Amino acid sequence: MDNKIFSVLNRAEDKKRLATEHFDVLVIGGGITGAGIALDAATRGLKVALIEKKDFAWGTSSRSTKLIHGGLRYLKQLEIKLVREVGIERAIVHENARHVVRPERMLLPIVEGGSLGKTLSSIGLWVYDYLAKVQKDERRKMLEKSEVQHLEPLLRADILKAGGLYYEYRTDDARLTIENLKTAVNFGALALNYTQAEKFTEEAGKVNGVEVKDLLDEQIYTIKADFVINAAGPWVDTLREKDSEGVKKKRLHLTKGVHIVVPFEKLPLQQSVYFDTEDKRMCFAIPRGKITYIGTTDTNYKGGIDNPLAEKADVEYILAATNAMFPSVGLKMEDVVSTWAGLRPLIHQDGRSPSELSRKDEIFISQSGLISMAGGKLTGYRKMSEKVINIVCKQKQVKTQCTTVELKLSGGGFETEADLDKFINLRATSMRDLQIPPAAVVDLAHKYGANIDLIIEKCYEWKPNYSNWLDLWEAAEIWYAVEYEAVANLCDFVVRRTGRLYFERETIAARSEFWAVEMSKLLSWSLPEKDAALHELKAEYEAVMSWNN
Ligand SMILES: Cc1cc2nc3c(=O)[nH]c(=O)nc-3n(C[C@H](O)[C@H](O)[C@H](O)COP(=O)(O)OP(=O)(O)OC[C@H]3O[C@@H](n4cnc5c(N)ncnc54)[C@H](O)[C@@H]3O)c2cc1C
Repeated sequence: MDNKIFSVLNRAEDKKRLATEHFDVLVIGGGITGAGIALDAATRGLKVALIEKKDFAWGTSSRSTKLIHGGLRYLKQLEIKLVREVGIERAIVHENARHVVRPERMLLPIVEGGSLGKTLSSIGLWVYDYLAKVQKDERRKMLEKSEVQHLEPLLRADILKAGGLYYEYRTDDARLTIENLKTAVNFGALALNYTQAEKFTEEAGKVNGVEVKDLLDEQIYTIKADFVINAAGPWVDTLREKDSEGVKKKRLHLTKGVHIVVPFEKLPLQQSVYFDTEDKRMCFAIPRGKITYIGTTDTNYKGGIDNPLAEKADVEYILAATNAMFPSVGLKMEDVVSTWAGLRPLIHQDGRSPSELSRKDEIFISQSGLISMAGGKLTGYRKMSEKVINIVCKQKQVKTQCTTVELKLSGGGFETEADLDKFINLRATSMRDLQIPPAAVVDLAHKYGANIDLIIEKCYEWKPNYSNWLDLWEAAEIWYAVEYEAVANLCDFVVRRTGRLYFERETIAARSEFWAVEMSKLLSWSLPEKDAALHELKAEYEAVMSWNN
């Protein structure tokens, strides 16, 4: 990809094209669903535009449990079709983006009074592997109590009966979204953030475009397209209400899910654990570098869609569930160093509790032709996108097949895990001349994959300008984020491109001034603009801990 093609530096040119050209497909929403749809459409040769009202992945797609998983829990609810579909998708998403979708060993402790007994867990995990066509070396292994205790000594011993060990994949949801968008842009899609859909335009009763507002300069203009796809996640119904048909029959049911982050040493797990809670739900505890994150809650949500936040009761619930399963760690409120809260855009089913609502996806097509996609999982985004673009192609009488099954995403061109490891080792060795620690190279390679080479090249070019490796490394990373990943402000970089707000929150106070200076140089910010960016970051920094006030 050329630099500036997917950059805020190209914004004026992008807007001119959006306002003057005609598109086959206009996607509203830059979460994983919209990104996947844009990619599927672009790879089939359709002319695609995508708009996102805030930053890409700003909605639910940066606030999930960050697992590419088949949903073992849904097997218990007999959602066989869903488990099969997302189970198969797991492997596809991993193969196409190995750098950002990493195999994750998951321990399922079997406890007295838990959701599944020993036999059912064994059958369940076997069916799960079978449905998802899991490779032989990654299939489930059932364990005796002593083996489980050896693997995870922190588990509560008195109720522990046995366990199962199986494989899932861990990802960074926002990065998976941006890698999809970068790939879509490579295939000719035009994607613009900070652009809000305000209202639909119609001709002869059919939607033929969207009036949008640029949230950076308030400019209003219209984008014309044959098909408009509403992929606005929790805001799907907000947009459907603007369509002439309104929200009929099926509607969304939003539930909130919270995660908490604690330092790794406070919950030093040897692998991820999927454990029972006392109220018959299940939670994940996932170690990740210097932290462990735990979640999630699942509660009905009626508040403002733009601002879901962790509340004290959410944090207390997760702490109590964790302490019940890992009693020796005795986690306290003051151990929590960050949180995030997201909304599940589920489809309402009368009489069902949040955890019972199906996670399956659905497509609604209104009389005006507006196509809306709701429900679903991060894991199933590729298949969801295929389904919706199949509909578009059929209506347009375009006979192209979906090709994303074997399409490597930006940065993810590795055939095997060994190829990725070899790539990372070579880069880590070569970066020794710049005194960049191997761990930093590994970390960056798991974010940017093969695109790390552009960052490395920039480090060599800028070496004389910086006195220490950290400044050089982060300056080059920020340059890449601005030139190749459409970052428009500090929060985009700190929250969604790099996850620092959740996983390295302690670095923000010390480093944010440096990041702001670097971004000012690239984006020609005035001093007040730089201060505004820092102020905005401070607000986000505080919001994740606002439950503690
Ligand atoms: C707590 C939690 C944990 C989860 N864990 C997992 C998991 O581990 N694995 C998994 O597979 N799935 C998981 N999920 C589900 C998964 O995260 C979601 O299904 C997925 O992220 C939804 O993506 P989306 O693109 O549909 O919505 P979003 O990511 O919310 O994207 C919609 C976008 O539309 C934009 N938008 C809204 N209105 C407008 C407008 N008027 N104009 C322009 N743009 C607009 C929004 O700003 C937003 O960015 C989880 C969900 C939650 C809440």
